[in-house]
Amino acid sequence: MLQTLRRIVQEVNSTRDLNQVLEIIVQRVKKAISADVCSIYLFDSDEDGFTLMATDGLNAELVGQVTMSHSSGLVGLVAQRTDPLNLDNAQEHPRFELFTSLNEERYHGFTGIPITHHREVLGVLVVQSKSDNRFSQDVVNFLVTIAAQLAGAIINAQASRQIPIYSTQEVSNIRRDYRPMIGQPGSPGVAVGKAVSIASSVSLSAVPDRPAKDVDDEINIFRVALESVRQDIKSLSFQLLSDGLPTEDVAVFDAYLLMLDSNTLIESTISKIETGNWAAGALRETISEHIKLFGEMDNPYLQERAKDIRDLGQSIFNQMEEINELPVDKLSKETIIVAEDISATLLAEIAEANISGIVLKSGSRTSHVAILARAMGIPTVVGVSELPIMQLDGSQLVADGYSGKVYISPPEHIIREYSRLISQEEELSEELKALTDKPATTQDKINIPLYANTGLVADITPSKESGAEGIGLYRTEYPFMIRQRFPGEEEQSEIYREVMESMAPKPVVLRTLDIGGDKSLSYFPIKEDNPFLGWRGIRVTLDHPEIFLIQLRAMLIASIGLNNLHILFPMISTTREVDGAINLLKRACEELLTEGYQVNMPKVGVMVEVPSVVFQMRQIASMVDFVSIGTNDLIQYLMAVDRNNANVAELYDSLNPAVLAAIKVVIDESHKEQIPVSVCGEMAGDPLAAILLLGMPIDSLSTSAASLPRVKWLIRNFTQTEAKELLEKALLMKDAYVIRKMLTDCIEKKGLGGLIRAGR
Ligand code: PEP
Ligand code: MG
Repeated sequence: MLQTLRRIVQEVNSTRDLNQVLEIIVQRVKKAISADVCSIYLFDSDEDGFTLMATDGLNAELVGQVTMSHSSGLVGLVAQRTDPLNLDNAQEHPRFELFTSLNEERYHGFTGIPITHHREVLGVLVVQSKSDNRFSQDVVNFLVTIAAQLAGAIINAQASRQIPIYSTQEVSNIRRDYRPMIGQPGSPGVAVGKAVSIASSVSLSAVPDRPAKDVDDEINIFRVALESVRQDIKSLSFQLLSDGLPTEDVAVFDAYLLMLDSNTLIESTISKIETGNWAAGALRETISEHIKLFGEMDNPYLQERAKDIRDLGQSIFNQMEEINELPVDKLSKETIIVAEDISATLLAEIAEANISGIVLKSGSRTSHVAILARAMGIPTVVGVSELPIMQLDGSQLVADGYSGKVYISPPEHIIREYSRLISQEEELSEELKALTDKPATTQDKINIPLYANTGLVADITPSKESGAEGIGLYRTEYPFMIRQRFPGEEEQSEIYREVMESMAPKPVVLRTLDIGGDKSLSYFPIKEDNPFLGWRGIRVTLDHPEIFLIQLRAMLIASIGLNNLHILFPMISTTREVDGAINLLKRACEELLTEGYQVNMPKVGVMVEVPSVVFQMRQIASMVDFVSIGTNDLIQYLMAVDRNNANVAELYDSLNPAVLAAIKVVIDESHKEQIPVSVCGEMAGDPLAAILLLGMPIDSLSTSAASLPRVKWLIRNFTQTEAKELLEKALLMKDAYVIRKMLTDCIEKKGLGGLIRAGR
């Protein structure tokens, strides 16, 4: 059964057309379990019911014509209960409804399985038999397994239906119900523009379709890549033979060469280029057709060859250098970048082109790419798990970075509405600029200094221009990430000096190297099963004092004469680590003094990111000068939710009462030691959360330059007393939904709705 399941799933995943996907499922499933009928009903929002979309066994002429509501028939019952239904004689069931035109009367045995995706019932998979025996439990288990795996493929195929691919596509046949795709808000703002798909991964299967600029050039690119792979294989095979490898073992390369020379591979790719796709997209289409063909074969040996085809396709693709290049000439103010994920360095490159927005399939609000996008003020939606990247290039998109909605090829009225909201946002930004030199003081005269987060990009100008009262978090990873080796003391010192000098006398908090988790260095790979629970932040630097000392010395040297340096240690989980880090800092300081540098011991702080620190807060606070709460990680560890995983992003909520309670403990315990507390995680820039932090009461906030003016506007429109009252109520509430509702109502009532949604 497992083998059959794998084959069906593989075949379905390599097919894009929804009807074809459904046809494959009904035919293969019917055969696999020897049923007499297999059908799929999918939810249709226009009809508000489940419409027969494919059948092998019933009257196929009625596909698309028969719809069952939630309250009618057995299909409606399965959807209503979201539970499999297995009957020996369907016709005796009180909910049975006969559609004579479907020719159902002959069938008795009935099993219906709900097809669900993220708790939503997409449809129902039904199998029927003439006999009046129930299907076995094994069959039911098989159907449940297949329905669970196919839901994603159905969603993908449904999504692709809305998208015109390139000019050869029959646009008029495309059904448009304009339900937006739902992701997570990544960076506030709204973007209306044309998609430019980027194959961020080096996987051929992730290559987008893109119109061929010049058919002859594209054919040439394909031929050159093919020839180069052919030469590589020949020389490898020759070398292995001369190394003494038996001829039979090297024979596999002959098979590869045969495949490369096969007319179907070459002709099929060229003909796809001729119909308008570029070389990489055409190759992807051809290879996926071949994989499907081999995968369908009954012979296990031939099935295995599907893998060889995939590898070969990938090798050809790797030779097409153009794919790895950013299509810079296509980027403009109207561009919305669409990708699986993008690296920090690529994002920095993209941002220079002044694009309109970003939509990513992976990630969540606190992934580093979202943090960067916010720092750059680029409206971004992340975690759109159904995003059909490959087919979006050139499509009109609307991306709403507040709600996480993405509209693909929307009708004119949606574009008009969002364009209007963009103008309102621009007006609001102008008004917010007027606040740049004003303090973040509440109406009852409490001052909450606002600092800027920076560091993942080289340029700190936006932080300076945002009116920040200093840098509350400088992530030092970036200079490490863009190099081919660890940067030396002098190199680092120059970078830190520039930051501190440009902000002096305002304070600058430099965080020591925080690699591991989702931040890796190409020259220092860390391979772990659970990187977020592994060797991260201070754990790495304490294990490598030589790297740590260079960084600490560089920071101290850079601060000479400025005296605005604060050093912050990331990923602390025990008091021993605090001791260890402070001791190394003292050592660096002493060394430099003996070498004749006039350095001072800076203020030292720890990040609260690990729950163990919350429960030892008073002790830890007594060891340092300041505390900074890194809510991005604290929430991830408190809630056991990977901050980058779109599947569980809904659970990741800074308004969760447990999160609020933990932050309250950190602040109360630190204040008992007269130690000030700041929040430097993304929560500080979320207007709703900032109200509650104000009520805690937090001493300062550090956020991206783009969010800072909005948080300032909010603080200036509240009193701390009001915020305390709201916090008191929130701490008694049961979950984040009610808390969010209370805060949203409050913000709207004050006329500050523009902080949390598109428009003014
Ligand atoms: C945090 O965890 O909240 C934080 C600010 O650090 P980073 O996002 O860099 O992990
Ligand atoms: Mg962190």
